[in-house]
Amino acid sequence: MDGKDEALIRDIRRLAAEKNAVILAHNYQRYEVQQAADLFGDSLGLSRQAAETSARMIVFAGVFFMAESAKILSPQKKVVMPVLEAGCPLADTLTVESLRALKEEHPGAPVVCYINTNAAIKAECDICCTSANMLQVVESLPDEKLLFVPDKNMGRYLQTQTSKELILWKGVCPTHHRLKKEHILELRRRHPEAKFIAHPECRLDVLELADAIRSTTGFFKYAAESDATEFIIGTETGVLPRMREVNPGKTFYAASEEMVCPNMKMTTLEDVLSVLETEENEVDVPADIREKAVKALERMLAVT
Ligand code: SF4
Repeated sequence: MDGKDEALIRDIRRLAAEKNAVILAHNYQRYEVQQAADLFGDSLGLSRQAAETSARMIVFAGVFFMAESAKILSPQKKVVMPVLEAGCPLADTLTVESLRALKEEHPGAPVVCYINTNAAIKAECDICCTSANMLQVVESLPDEKLLFVPDKNMGRYLQTQTSKELILWKGVCPTHHRLKKEHILELRRRHPEAKFIAHPECRLDVLELADAIRSTTGFFKYAAESDATEFIIGTETGVLPRMREVNPGKTFYAASEEMVCPNMKMTTLEDVLSVLETEENEVDVPADIREKAVKALERMLAVT
């Protein structure tokens, strides 16, 4: 980190304290933005932790659905984003209209939605899940046929783990979908001792090569607890600097240097400072949508 970043982080910390703001940074954010944050981690974990604070304002360095989730869990707090245009291309594959049409094609089948969905989609779903608890959520339901949205790769993997019939939406995360089997085979040749950890948003033929399939938080836990000293990291490269920092003596290789989410990288330290100053870019969730979306989240929390 250079002197300019250090000065920006000092200003951000001072202003956040003055304004009683809590700054959240997703694991895929630029490393310096993660260093400026009060809390870093995965989207649901951050929203839940922020809800427990007495902060007046949440600054969410992440993508749009994450700020919406924070608002759903903290309706009394003001939620702002440093860059309002930072959306999630996976979440944006699914509209309310297309979800309603899918439901009509499969009447009676409950809808399980991955947390990476916009609030209006969560409001249309029966239960949410995360990449860590998706199997538990699916198995908790009495139904044998379920709709699973929006990630097709994750759904395909889940289908290998359950006897239930899953009807999938066609969305993929472009960042995880870029990782190909060939990348891993080549890295394995160069680093035969390395353990390959993959995120379930990766393609199924990539997941079949994995030593472990984990959520982003799970990557950190696996690396810390494993006796292995080398790891191939099959998720967005933003996790790497902190993985290296908290695991000195262990070596981490990006599964592919192309695994960079441009939307996650939009937010800079200047943007975080600016939104603290202006308090613009507020993210709101209408009360009727919030009430329905919170139920889908609560159902998940009740079974996991
Ligand atoms: Fe969306 Fe994928 Fe980017 Fe995450 S990494 S914000 S799922 S596009």
